[in-house]
Amino acid sequence: MDNTKCQFCDEDISVQARICPHCQKTQYVAEEINSMAYNIVFYQYFLIKAAIILVCFVLAWWAGLIAIAVATIISLIMANSIVTNYPPFLIVELFEKSKKSFYIELVIVLVLIVLVIIYFVKKSSDI
Ligand SMILES: [Zn+2]
Repeated sequence: MDNTKCQFCDEDISVQARICPHCQKTQYVAEEINSMAYNIVFYQYFLIKAAIILVCFVLAWWAGLIAIAVATIISLIMANSIVTNYPPFLIVELFEKSKKSFYIELVIVLVLIVLVIIYFVKKSSDI
């Protein structure tokens, strides 16, 4: 039977084990760790990134699209470096932490989007 190390307590466990018998924590597969890393990057500075993208959209629609493309490329590079440089338990910890502040920032961003839509509706009705 093949053994591996627990992602949290570093004890030897079976590769098939989903839950560590020593610390009772769920083990994550590579795809789960990858998607958590992408989410961490997405959640981090979400408000600032969304505000910059919105400002670009207000200036010109193509500037908004370029801002989204640039943000996506940077996010992919950052997520890759998190996966290669951080141990799994730290990625899980960061993911849980960043998730909390994300929902508050998401509400603010939705309000900003509504304001931008109102701005465009008013602007087009002025003509
Ligand atoms: Zn463990």
